[in-house]
Amino acid sequence: MAVNSFEIIPMNEWGLFTDPKPSVVAGPCSAESEEQVLETAKHLKETGINVYRAGIWKPRTHPGSFEGVGAEGLAWMQRAKKEYGLKIATEVASQKHVAECLKHGVDLVWLGARTTVNPFLVQEIADALKGTDIPVLVKNPINPDLDLWIGALERLSRAGIKKLGVIHRGFSTFDKIKYRNDPQWQVAIELRSRYPELPFFVDPSHMGGSKDYIREISQRSLDLGFEGLMIEAHCNPAVALSDAKQQLTPAELDDLLYRQITVRDADSDAPEWKDNIDQLRAKIDVIDENLLYALNSRMKVSSQIGEYKKNNNIAIIQAARWDVVMAKVMEKGKEYGLSDKFLSTVFAAIHEASVDVQNEIISKQK
Ligand code: PEP
Ligand code: MN
Repeated sequence: MAVNSFEIIPMNEWGLFTDPKPSVVAGPCSAESEEQVLETAKHLKETGINVYRAGIWKPRTHPGSFEGVGAEGLAWMQRAKKEYGLKIATEVASQKHVAECLKHGVDLVWLGARTTVNPFLVQEIADALKGTDIPVLVKNPINPDLDLWIGALERLSRAGIKKLGVIHRGFSTFDKIKYRNDPQWQVAIELRSRYPELPFFVDPSHMGGSKDYIREISQRSLDLGFEGLMIEAHCNPAVALSDAKQQLTPAELDDLLYRQITVRDADSDAPEWKDNIDQLRAKIDVIDENLLYALNSRMKVSSQIGEYKKNNNIAIIQAARWDVVMAKVMEKGKEYGLSDKFLSTVFAAIHEASVDVQNEIISKQK
């Protein structure tokens, strides 16, 4: 059974992230050489980054791709930590990785998307982390399965991890889409509304798959109120051994964080803001009540039609009739400036509910 809430130590008590917001984890996709790790770290520190990431063990789709330098890279990370006063972070996918990280003073670990899908591995990692107080972030599983994501969080929480958070990096899809991974923001929003206590990061690098999309995804996630970003940055992205297309230079990251994105406040106590927002929300509440009343009225008529069809022995679905309804809705909706996608989603749900009600009526007849 899913838990109702997690016992979480708020992120500002993790001793990792410094103001101003957002909380940022940045660094190369992979640690490649000591020079690359140190050079990137130096420039990122100058940009105000405090938590430095680098992949040490890389889960790659094809064998023969660069699979990471392994534990040797942790010594380079440790050097970056010492020389530049950074906190260091990497991905773990096994009990052995956890042990190496603990040995090398890693300050934060995350579970990658390909690990979150596997409860055996998640449990192995949770067991290895028992008794430590290292912060752990859990990326979404590669498929949009919210329960699988929550299950991984539960395993870590049961192991006593209280510095726990999530990273949304989008979902694999066979469809051709603009991004490398499909954001499906509704999944992230659902997780946030069920567990508002969980610190929430977005990874625009793996979501977008290209540095061209990092600004828009970062802004979107800040607009949605998510407080952290994990961004890939490399001292020379052109020659990166993995994910070259999506890594920013430290200068580009600086530009992004300080000039290109706007951080929104979660809320405000300013009286004028309060007055206006309260009025607008009161309006929305009234409109929602009207919507509910209208939906209820529509369902009642729909039931009457169901009875009428039953009495006349007529099938529930008349496709032609629904086509006429939708054509009218689309035309009228367009006049109101409502998008086709919105109209078809809303009315498909209304139609489905209508058919369900009529089905119930017809099936009672026998
Ligand atoms: C990563 O952050 O380096 C990584 C491999 O990401 P993901 O698990 O999101 O694919
Ligand atoms: Mn990567």
